[in-house]
Amino acid sequence: MHSLLNQTRVEFVRGDITRQATEAIVNAANSSLLGGGGVDGAIHRAGGPRILEECKKIRAQQGGCPTGEAVITTGGNLPARYVIHTVGPVWHGGSHNESMLLRSAYYNSLRLAQENDINSIAFPSISTGAYGYPVKQAAAIAVAAVLEFADSHSQPGLIRFVLFSDQDLVVYQAAWEEAVSSF
Ligand code: ADP
Repeated sequence: MHSLLNQTRVEFVRGDITRQATEAIVNAANSSLLGGGGVDGAIHRAGGPRILEECKKIRAQQGGCPTGEAVITTGGNLPARYVIHTVGPVWHGGSHNESMLLRSAYYNSLRLAQENDINSIAFPSISTGAYGYPVKQAAAIAVAAVLEFADSHSQPGLIRFVLFSDQDLVVYQAAWEEAVSSF
C-alpha cells in the first residue's frame, strides 16, 4: 500500500529491513550503540563490522545515543548506503513520556536523513519488540510523526515502513488511514 503526501510517498510493506534498497534504513538501536537482538542484531549481522566500528566512534565522542535521538553510520555491506540508529523508549505503562520519546525517535531520524540529503528511508516498528510498546499505540505515533514531518518537508521523497509480520502490517496500514483521514 502507498499514499502520496505533498512530495513524499509513504509505503507499507511486510519484509526484512536489511534487504531494503532505500538510501537509508533505520535501526531500533539501544543507547549503548553496541548492538543487540531483534532488528539491531539483524542489521549488524547483514551489514558487517564497519557499522559497529562507526557506532563505537560515535560512542567514544558522545557516549552513546539518548532515547529519542538518532545518529548515522555507513550501511556497510547492506544495500542501503546509511544506517540511522535511533533509540525508542522502553514501555513502562505509558505514563513515562513514552509517546513523546517514540515520536522524537521517528522525527529525529527523518531530520537526520534530510540533513544528509537522503531521499529514501525505511523504518522498522521501533520499540514494539523487546521494548514492549503496544503495537497499535506505537503505530499511531509512528504514522503521525511521519505525517507531520512530510507535511512540512519535501525530503525524503520516499518513507517506507517495513513490518516483520502481516499482523503488524495491517495495524500500521490502519493507523495510517486513520491518521490521514483526521489530518
Ligand atoms: P525494540 O528493542 O525497539 O523493541 P526489536 O528489534 O526488539 O526493537 O523489535 C522491533 C520490531 O522489529 C519488532 O516488530 C520485530 O519483529 C521487528 N524486526 C525484527 N527483525 C526485523 C527485520 N530484519 N526487519 C524488520 N523488522 C524486524
